Amino acid sequence: MCLQAASTMLGSEPMNRDDPAQGLARVRLRIGAAARLAARPSSDITLVAVSKMQSADRIAAVLAEGQRHFGENRVQEALAKWPTLRERTPDVVLHLIGPLQTNKVRDALALFDVIETVDRPKLAQAIAKEMAESERRVPCFVEVNVGDEAQKAGVSPAELSQFLTLCRDELALPIAGLMCIPPIGEAAGPYFALLRKLAARHGLLQCSMGMSADFEDAIALGATSVRVGSGIFGERPGH
Ligand SMILES: *Cc1c(COP(=O)(O)O)cnc(C)c1O
Repeated sequence: MCLQAASTMLGSEPMNRDDPAQGLARVRLRIGAAARLAARPSSDITLVAVSKMQSADRIAAVLAEGQRHFGENRVQEALAKWPTLRERTPDVVLHLIGPLQTNKVRDALALFDVIETVDRPKLAQAIAKEMAESERRVPCFVEVNVGDEAQKAGVSPAELSQFLTLCRDELALPIAGLMCIPPIGEAAGPYFALLRKLAARHGLLQCSMGMSADFEDAIALGATSVRVGSGIFGERPGH
């Protein structure tokens, strides 16, 4: 069965689109289907549930289904929600997926278990310094500006090699992989393929790519984690 038919079938099931537990079930099925099509074990793909702007209650509904990886894009917002949630589920794995200012590095490292947005030398240096002082090391991803967009965060593909040398050789940062947010309004596939190629070239095993609109494509092109928000929780408040 082709992927289109699979998602049409899943989409036609009578489900409440505003129930995060059902949204999660739907996304899990779609990840499984995309993994099968790509002949990959679905255990190779980590679902990061993007819970930015979601209330603690809605997050708790997803935690109750066994989901453990979550993504937040703002340090302050995550600090307000997660310490309490985490008391009940200490094995949660929090990913920072939004821009990080150097003055928030200390807070970020105290709270998050994965930093996906290492994107400039000053930030890499600040993270290395804080890791040394706090003796807490968490896996980091380098964010790549795959479309070379002027206003977008991330290291340009042309500068990635030099930036990785700084991160790994000079600062000894634990770089686990690469992350990208492709340009809006274009087919994402070529950008996912580019990220995968860059990761392979630099001996990095993990690629964080794919969101609600395109995570199946990302899985076909080698994503090891996908970041899905609205596909689970529905439209975010304020949209
Ligand atoms: C919000 C966000 C997502 C999730 O987006 P959806 O389209 O809601 O799935 C993924 N990655 C990043 C970096 C985000 O900021």
